[in-house]
Amino acid sequence: MKRETIAIHGGFDADPATKAVAVPIYQTAAYSFDSAEHGAALFNLEVEGFRYTRISNPTCAILEDRVSQLEGGVGALSVASGQTALYYAAASVTEIGRNIVSVPQLYGTTYTLFAHILPRQGVKVRFATSDRPADMEYLIDENTRALFCETVGNPAGNVCDLEAMAKVAHRHHIPLIVDNTVPTPMMVRPKEYGADIIIHSLTKFMGGHGTTLGGIIVDCGEFPWQDHAARFPMFCQPDESYHGLVYTDHFGKAAFIGRCRSVYQRTMGAVLAPMNAFLLLQGIETVAVRLDRHVENARKVAEFLRKDARIESVNYAGFPDSPYYDLVQKYLDGRACSLMTFEIHGGMAAGMRFYNALKLFKRLVNLGDAKSLACHPASTTHRQMTPSEQMAAGVGPGTIRLSIGIEHIDDILDDLSQAMDAAVSA
Ligand SMILES: *Cc1c(COP(=O)(O)O)cnc(C)c1O
Repeated sequence: MKRETIAIHGGFDADPATKAVAVPIYQTAAYSFDSAEHGAALFNLEVEGFRYTRISNPTCAILEDRVSQLEGGVGALSVASGQTALYYAAASVTEIGRNIVSVPQLYGTTYTLFAHILPRQGVKVRFATSDRPADMEYLIDENTRALFCETVGNPAGNVCDLEAMAKVAHRHHIPLIVDNTVPTPMMVRPKEYGADIIIHSLTKFMGGHGTTLGGIIVDCGEFPWQDHAARFPMFCQPDESYHGLVYTDHFGKAAFIGRCRSVYQRTMGAVLAPMNAFLLLQGIETVAVRLDRHVENARKVAEFLRKDARIESVNYAGFPDSPYYDLVQKYLDGRACSLMTFEIHGGMAAGMRFYNALKLFKRLVNLGDAKSLACHPASTTHRQMTPSEQMAAGVGPGTIRLSIGIEHIDDILDDLSQAMDAAVSA
């Protein structure tokens, strides 16, 4: 099936118990065993089934199946938020003394996790000076256990050269982990270019309505953990915490996601509530058509802003003179995402006046909502960074980030126009 169809039907036909055609919300903590033997077999992973919702839940399982199919993966694990997905994925491939090499253009909280939290657990993250694969390769050493990038950086809007990054990663026998939140699998499937693990904040375009936090980790199933067993013993040696299970033996190609669930989800328990899985599934059904409108509106906004003499610069990867234009053609089928940043003449003060004058656009720190949203990253999402770290992430003091919604374009442009008048007339 094509992605547009998977988004609506993937992982679910009708409820086996009732024939309900909407995905049922299985609001239960646990599941009864037929017998002591059945319970033991479930715990031994000898038979398929549900035990306890911290480990898996039928509603969440449908979401996992659907997103895994959209990304072309072999399995997925849904979790409470995008941040949980990032933490589980990073922790899964590392141990004390190991490191991850990352692009510098990151979502603010991902940067905080990488720069401040993981190092306290003995895992360093090395930030490359740019998203060029060669700059990343330069930082890899014998303790590196993964390469990390955002397909399209939030808020920098940079587009990563996934194919080249995957080649670098695989040359050094490590997986490429990709945050595919901004484009979603409807615009690009990183697996087709060699990515090994894909994470999402489902809170954004996938859910699409700004109602529900959620995250997911997708296992692309191609990384040969067994061939690099000395580097990744956690997947290939008996796990004492799980009565000696060897993940590569038991789960085969899905060893990574099997271990994520059996180790991280089981013991840390940042689960996605079934109700939230339902809400995210509702959003995913319409993601293809929503993105068409998001992308088209964003193109019109970018062109409108660029024509206005009051605007100093517009950072939008869809412009032919953007350094990312060619990568937009290659990876996004020529469709730049609906995220952009810009600077208004007059620096920080004018930026603030513009921001405060917006009426239709919501001032907040989210993206990918049906509504148009505006954010001032330097004072919010990227506030914990030093000014030079902010610049590396694509955030200037007066930068405004827009996430263009699916309202009528005339109303979007009217609001931007009146806010610009207010910003310069003050
Ligand atoms: C929002 C976001 C996250 C974090 O997701 P939450 O669901 O808010 O935890 C991670 N990566 C990117 C690119 C994001 O935009």
